[in-house]
Formats: sequence, C-alpha cells, structure tokens
Amino acid sequence: MCPEVQEEIEQFAKSFRKLDLHYKVVGKTGEGTFSSVYKAIDLRYDKYVNDWDLEERTAEYHSPRSKRQRLNHPKEKRVKYVAIKKIYVTSSPQRIHNELELLKDLSGSKNVVSLITAFRHLDQVIAVMPYFRHVDFRDYFRKLDIPEIQLYMRSLFTALKFVHAKGILHRDIKPTNFLYDCGKGRGVLVDFGLAERESDDGTCCCTSQTNSIRRESKTQGSAIGGYPKNDQRPSKRANRAGTRGFRAPEVLFKCNAQTTKIDIWSAGVILLTFLSKRFPFFNSPDDIDAVVEMATVFGRARMRSCALLHGATFETAIPTITEKGHSLARIVEWATARNKDNPLTSQEKAALQFLEATLELDHRKRLSAEQALQHSFLTNIDP
Ligand code: ADP
Ligand code: MG
Repeated sequence: MCPEVQEEIEQFAKSFRKLDLHYKVVGKTGEGTFSSVYKAIDLRYDKYVNDWDLEERTAEYHSPRSKRQRLNHPKEKRVKYVAIKKIYVTSSPQRIHNELELLKDLSGSKNVVSLITAFRHLDQVIAVMPYFRHVDFRDYFRKLDIPEIQLYMRSLFTALKFVHAKGILHRDIKPTNFLYDCGKGRGVLVDFGLAERESDDGTCCCTSQTNSIRRESKTQGSAIGGYPKNDQRPSKRANRAGTRGFRAPEVLFKCNAQTTKIDIWSAGVILLTFLSKRFPFFNSPDDIDAVVEMATVFGRARMRSCALLHGATFETAIPTITEKGHSLARIVEWATARNKDNPLTSQEKAALQFLEATLELDHRKRLSAEQALQHSFLTNIDP
C-alpha cells in the first residue's frame, strides 16, 4: 500500500470516534464522486478476534496467500469483511438520507448491496455494507466471451428487476457501480446515491398536453430552420442526474417523468461496451454533445421522433449525421474491425438482437428488466 493511502486510512480511522471499537480498516477499495470506500474487518462479527489475529489479517490483505492456504486456515470463516463508505461531507444531508433510506429498503437480493448499519460523527456519515470482491472493469471488459457476457448481464438485470419492483430508479448504472466477480459470475449493484423513487403522478411529457402546448408555442415564436426567436416557452427542467455516456435519451431530452427504463438504457450501454470493446463508448461532456453522439449512431429520423415524444425537436446541420443512421451490428463490426474473413458469430448476432431491445430510443418499447430476463439471450446460456 502506498504511504499516502496508509496515511489516509489512519486519518479516517482516527477521525471517526470509536470506529476502531467496531472495525479494523485494512485498505481502500474504491473512490467515487461522492465518497471514499474502505475495506475493513468487522470486529463485532468475529468474537474470537484478538490483536494477533488482526495483525495477521492485515498482513494477509497486503500479501495474500493462495486460496487453498486461506481455506485451510482455521480462522478463515470467522472473519467478515465490510465496505465502509465515507460519504463526503459536501453531500447534502438530504442526499445522504435518501441513499441510506433506499439502501435500507433494498435488502433481500444477492445482486443488490445491503446496508449493515450507518453512523454519524459530527458532520461525517459512514455507511457499512458487506464487502464484495470484484475486478476492475477495465481489466476484463475486452476479455469476456459471449457466455460470460450473458452471465454478467443476467446478474445485472436480476439486480435491476429487484430494484425496479420496489419502484426505485437507480439512475447511475455503469461498470463502477456494478461490482462483478468474474470467477463467480456474480455481480452486486451498489451506489444508490442518485437513486430515487419512481413518481406515480402519471404526468409525462410524452403523453400529456405539455407536448402539444410546447409545440404550439414554438410555432408562435419560431424562426424557420433555426433556433426560435422570442421563445416564450417555459424552459424545460428535469432530473438529469447520472453519468455522462450512460444517460438515456429521455434524460437528455429532459423528460420530466423518467421511469425505471432509464436504467435499462444504461445497462444497454454496458453491453455495447462489451461487444464493441470500447470503453467508454459514449463520452460527450455535455447533454447537447451526447445527443449528437447518439444521433451519429441512430440517425436523424429516429432522433426526431424520439425528441418529439418528449416535447422537444431535433434539428442538425452536421453532415456526418445521416437520415437513417447505422445498425448496432454495423457499429460493432466497425469497432472490432470485422471483414469477410472475420464476420460476426451467431452468438454475437444473438447479443446484438438483445442489445437492440435495450438500446431502444422509445422508452415505452424498451424492454423492462423482467422482460430482459425472459429474453432468449439471458435464458439460453451455453457455459
Ligand atoms: P460513489 O457514490 O462515490 O460513486 P460508490 O458507492 O459507487 O461511491 O463506491 C465507490 C467505489 O467503492 C466502487 O466503485 C467500488 O470500487 C467500491 N465499493 C463500493 N461499495 C463496495 C462494496 N460493498 N464492496 C467492495 N467495494 C465497494
Ligand atoms: Mg459510484
């Protein structure tokens, strides 16, 4: 461990009153936008733990023995690791409360992280969760074969089905929030920092009068072929929380009644990453650029109808954006340099068919997590 991280861990353990009575922090497991996450031994779990054990465990963490040696160790089963998420104090109390409350409601799935407990000391809040061993996405996304990708996606969609059944949108589906153990073929969904409950007021810009009102008032103040002058329309506001490259089209078009389908889109982007072997696949810094990126793939016609669904319009003069766009199969062929001697396999074609159903611009036609799990791509896995 580098001295900086060692020092950070010591600072953390000291700054949080009585933390060391419950946990022994042994390493840092991750860092996100809103937190640092540490790996620790749960002292309350292991009633046999003593100082000698702790020293040994800490040493083992830094120079792991072989799996066989570990399994033979008499005390192995008594040690339980936890992940301690130190939420940055700059996060609003409301946001922290929301994350903890949703986590509490989400216990009961082996593919979704659960909350063991949470503590506050002064302005610092920590959440304690079971620790999940996982591999960095960048280390394996190019290497997985199709059956392994199927296992990954099945794990992810099982998590989503569970979360969505509770009426919760995760809003930030991306590889760093899905901790995957390639060896076990199991993943766990974490990070409910941006999650929210699905609104049930049923008013969606896609169906309601807002759409026609917006269109009407646009004609009143419009300039032909350009941005409307003296635009009287109220500016559109919608939750756009999430990560660039993973936002669904309805988020980019500021739909104000976003549904759980936004998570399905993001899961589709992960699948596209696997198939194209490009990460990040979409990478535009702002929403307008993101729409342009999307249009480059899907074409003007489909983007126009998608925009219209959400009371928006899509116009562009960029010559490289064609009317019909490209099929996802074509995109994957380009990204992976296919030719006549090296065509897409039948397994890849099956994956692409599933991809089309998850990266569907119209959220109403996009698969739900439950439907995805019934799709042949996730039911027929040849190990
Ligand atoms: P943020 O809200 O800051 O993005 P996350 O909850 O996504 O925080 O955690 C950041 C990182 O910490 C994750 O990408 C992962 O590497 C690691 N991490 C989070 N939870 C766990 C856990 N339960 N077990 C192991 N590692 C974890
Ligand atoms: Mg995260």
